[in-house]
Amino acid sequence: MGAATAFFLRQRGRSVILLERFLVGQQASGVNFGNVRRQGRFLGQLPLANRSRRIWGKIAELTGSDVEFLPVGHVRFAWHKEQVGVIEEYARHARQLGLDLEIIGRNSLRERFPFAGGLAVAGSYSPNDGHANPRLATPAFARAATRDGATVVENCEVLSLEKVGDDFQAETPQGLFSAPCALISNGAWGGRLAAAFGEAVPITPGGPQMGVTEPAPYFIRPVVGVSTSIPDEVIYLRQIPRGNVIFGGVRRGPVSLEVGRSKFDPANLAPQFLQLVRLVPALRHLRIIRTWSGVEGYMSDDLPIMGASGKVSGLYYAFGFCGAGFQLGPGVGDVMAELIDTGSTTTPISDFTIARFVQAREQ
Ligand SMILES: Cc1cc2nc3c(=O)[nH]c(=O)nc-3n(C[C@H](O)[C@H](O)[C@H](O)COP(=O)(O)OP(=O)(O)OC[C@H]3O[C@@H](n4cnc5c(N)ncnc54)[C@H](O)[C@@H]3O)c2cc1C
Repeated sequence: MGAATAFFLRQRGRSVILLERFLVGQQASGVNFGNVRRQGRFLGQLPLANRSRRIWGKIAELTGSDVEFLPVGHVRFAWHKEQVGVIEEYARHARQLGLDLEIIGRNSLRERFPFAGGLAVAGSYSPNDGHANPRLATPAFARAATRDGATVVENCEVLSLEKVGDDFQAETPQGLFSAPCALISNGAWGGRLAAAFGEAVPITPGGPQMGVTEPAPYFIRPVVGVSTSIPDEVIYLRQIPRGNVIFGGVRRGPVSLEVGRSKFDPANLAPQFLQLVRLVPALRHLRIIRTWSGVEGYMSDDLPIMGASGKVSGLYYAFGFCGAGFQLGPGVGDVMAELIDTGSTTTPISDFTIARFVQAREQ
């Protein structure tokens, strides 16, 4: 969020300093699953996700880097009859918000997606979603921001942030930095800095569990997921043209905010694999060559914090993206730059205001 906002602020001619505790893209944005998925999101988030999708479409041109964005589609399978009504209703609403989804019946699923097992009762297909390489995308934005005149300071932790007179002052091991506006966009760590401005929020860190198989012939084009209300059935996978199948889902693991790491829990692997072969039976022949996790911030209502502070002028927030911020990142950067530059945004983000928690506490 920070790198994309820095990039779009430079597009608007604003001066920017990005302070990063470790290296840009070392945390959630660089280690995630890589899903550029809109379907299944909170409906009120679709205008933002659509704006982001438009930027994904020209990301190479904007940043000057190939981030391996492949708009190969995204399909969600439903295992249970009750879920068919859920995906149909979602598709009806999503269409009105600019996202066309195709509902596919049981008989057509195997024809359209020959890699699938025969267990799904229906599917929902989003032809213009896809995936990208998270290792490449965030550094690409930071490099492009630097190219266009932003200052990016890595290994520079913000120890405290205060408003002193008209300016914000960030204290770091590399000295004091000041600016008339501040954006808190430090992911799972956003809660502490926001609380210092009297805007404490219910954010819990968690570590989604990821893995990757050895390469196999390229046979799964779309990103594949599941529409379910059962947490242990949540699984998602994508194959890259090189052949490896990347997957994630089922439970989350514990994280350390202090160290900035989350571990993969080996106990999660067997349940994940059971769900994987339910989706794509041929995966039972592949070896898993690596597992990992990352540090993500989850809000109690599963929606991020985005927008202006309700208490301090010149202060903005974009953090707590609840496991779904990779797709949104470019759009969040564009919207936050617009908000900081003009005072308002053409994309609705009021559902994500930090005031929703502060007001609830003060009532
Ligand atoms: C394993 C995993 C899989 C995921 N899969 C997907 C997916 O497939 N699709 C999707 O849309 N989303 C996915 N997500 C979610 C997505 O990655 C995040 O929502 C998104 O990357 C959050 O971006 P961010 O900039 O808010 O946070 P981050 O990328 O975590 O960036 C925050 C940065 O702030 C820095 N920082 C922290 N504290 C300080 C400080 N005091 N001073 C200076 N810097 C600080 C950190 O070092 C970090 O680099 C996944 C997340 C994880 C962890």
